[in-house]
Amino acid sequence: MTDIYASAVPGATRAPELWQQLQAAAQLLAMVRAGRSAGDALESVAPGLRPGVQALAYAALRGLGRAEALRALLAPRKPAPAVDALLCLTLALASAEAQDYDAHTLVNQAVEAAKRHDSRAVSNSAGFLNACLRRFLRERVDLLAEIDEDPATALLARWNHPRWWIARLQQEAPAHWQAVLDANNRPPPLTLRVNLAQGPVEVYLADLQAVGLAAQRNGAQGVTLERPLPVHRIPGFAQGRVSVQDAAAQLAAPLLLDDLPPVPTPTRPLRILDACAAPGGKTAHLLELIAARGLDAEVVALDVDAERCRRIDENLRRLGLQAQVVAADAGDPVAWRQAGLTDDLRFDAILLDAPCTASGIVRRHPDVRWLRRESDIASLARQQARLLAALWPRLVVGGRLLYCTCSVFRAEGEEQVRAFLAHNKEASSRPAPGHLWPHSAFQSEALTDNAIRGHDGFYYALLAKEGG
Ligand code: SAM
Repeated sequence: MTDIYASAVPGATRAPELWQQLQAAAQLLAMVRAGRSAGDALESVAPGLRPGVQALAYAALRGLGRAEALRALLAPRKPAPAVDALLCLTLALASAEAQDYDAHTLVNQAVEAAKRHDSRAVSNSAGFLNACLRRFLRERVDLLAEIDEDPATALLARWNHPRWWIARLQQEAPAHWQAVLDANNRPPPLTLRVNLAQGPVEVYLADLQAVGLAAQRNGAQGVTLERPLPVHRIPGFAQGRVSVQDAAAQLAAPLLLDDLPPVPTPTRPLRILDACAAPGGKTAHLLELIAARGLDAEVVALDVDAERCRRIDENLRRLGLQAQVVAADAGDPVAWRQAGLTDDLRFDAILLDAPCTASGIVRRHPDVRWLRRESDIASLARQQARLLAALWPRLVVGGRLLYCTCSVFRAEGEEQVRAFLAHNKEASSRPAPGHLWPHSAFQSEALTDNAIRGHDGFYYALLAKEGG
């Protein structure tokens, strides 16, 4: 795949024009519609264009349902994919409630993007785009009212999620579905985890304040910045003083460690398995807590994806932490041995942060809602059940297994665990948060140190192995 606009901005010294960013953002949108993840597609955008293109494309993905409903009114015959992507991108941005660009500027620049496009099909459609978009500017109020009032488009236009997703949430979370969808449509906050081995949260907050960065405490180790920053500008990041990690994800390591019974033989280190570990956010958190609490413990970090295992190594290196990183299928202990895990394959604690629909982190990855199919839920639930079944025998009696997913769907959360408990009589349930709905509001009211706010959607169940 060629770089999107690599040739247009090689070694560029001035900020790219808005029309260039719109062209690249529309291409990214077309890639997502063709089934590619936005993060992956962004890799093909020239570095100089990436931040702007990401902001435009992600904002458009959050308003794509409304844009498609508008497009159907303005152009009942769907145009070619590249033209449709530019049209829908511009409609999503120009119809958003909060806009970074004036709608007329957006339309002028989108038409410029079409005129200057390499593809003849797109440049030839500049007149058509101009006509559709100017009609939108003239009739905006009426067009928006029409899609809001039409039962065929109202839900899609209001909530910007596929219909099956909305229907499923309405059924599974009747009291929360609107808040969940609303949270999904807002940009996420940037939350950091403070490494307690390098000092307390209060000191880090004071250091941020000293350099003029507004932030609030968010949970036992969390700090949420009022305005997101690139990681290289976050104080202490390079030195391993903080890591980027959502407040709900920060619950995993303490949930698992806090409930562990003492190790039977005082001379033996605790053995902990992080079974789906990449890129290593929760592995690092476990290791930081182990260091801060002075525990004697060994951590094995498994992930099936060897490339992603390299990211665990990089993250642990930045933080000065160590785990045994193994690339293997967590559901196949024979493969662990083949991949070099020669020690005892039994563990006192297992973290299973299972592959899932990622339906709880949609505000961070707004493409996810358009990429998933409803059938993915059942197939991912089968994978999760397989991993649970394979890992459970690896847990010592008296040990703890923390099961989590960043999903809001019950099949990947409480239904999964209910079925597991029904078939495993030696498993019992320990106190854990269950389903946490994504929560976007950054409220200023005081909370206790351990309470979290502005967090992703998550599910947590803590299982204990009984018997002897
Ligand atoms: N725990 C990680 C963290 O906090 O940074 C995030 C884990 S992510 C939700 C799920 C991971 O599961 C992915 O890295 C994926 O490669 C891995 N995975 C998927 N199937 C797996 C399998 N069968 N065995 C091991 N890892 C698997």
